[in-house]
Amino acid sequence: MIADYHTHTRLCKHAEGDVEEYVRRALDIGLDEVGCSEHMPMPHDFDLRHRPTIEEYTSVYAPTVSEVAEKYKGGIAVRRGIEAEFLPGTEEWVAKFIREGDFDFVIGSVHFVGKNGSERSLFGREYHPEEIETLTIDYFESIRASAMSGMFDIVAHCDLVKKFGLRLGTRTEEAMRESMKAVKRSDLCIEINTSGLRKPEQDTYPGEHVLQIAKELKIPLTLGSDAHKPGQVGASFEKAIHLVEKYGDGEIALFEKRERRNVKVSRLRSA
Ligand SMILES: [Zn+2]
Ligand SMILES: [Zn+2]
Repeated sequence: MIADYHTHTRLCKHAEGDVEEYVRRALDIGLDEVGCSEHMPMPHDFDLRHRPTIEEYTSVYAPTVSEVAEKYKGGIAVRRGIEAEFLPGTEEWVAKFIREGDFDFVIGSVHFVGKNGSERSLFGREYHPEEIETLTIDYFESIRASAMSGMFDIVAHCDLVKKFGLRLGTRTEEAMRESMKAVKRSDLCIEINTSGLRKPEQDTYPGEHVLQIAKELKIPLTLGSDAHKPGQVGASFEKAIHLVEKYGDGEIALFEKRERRNVKVSRLRSA
């Protein structure tokens, strides 16, 4: 069994392709399941440049996923997911959107750090070297809070902050470990997100340092390419499967109607 639970479409304005193209690609490379997990729209048009509007999501994306899932039934299981945003102050709105969405799985992402998260985006800006330690601690604190929120099933790219250069010291290491303990306490899984292998970091999110902690805590794993182009579905999954064997007992978590089950991962039939 092999599944890619993290894909986008052009509707988020920074990706290419439509739902069916991603599903076709997943089928072509031999996946058993594919999760459609477009970025969640946010209230008050927050960060609208990187996500669909509420109207686009509900009248275009959601029905399209249902149609494509029906069309490909028997060939590949298409799961209805979403990449939700953890942003302090919006939890109630986000929780309601999730409740009403009839999802198979919900990925929780931290792209904005700290209590006034929108001031410290992880995208589109740089930080001074002396800011990195605080940013890293606050990032893992946000991951911890997102896990404790009870809204999500999967923690997205859980060491994304390393894109700014992660130098783990005592305080950052402690914050990171606490975030993973919260993930375990809340019975969530983390994804092995292969998009970092396409970025200057040249590493999965998370890398092996966090995966070792996840292994010690017995945190379940999912696989996600974070594809923003149809051709990226299942990208670098040979590497990700190797990590699942090393750190996840060879098992991945699958979701249906937000019920989780763990299955043995298999190799890609073709790539
Ligand atoms: Zn994106
Ligand atoms: Zn994503």
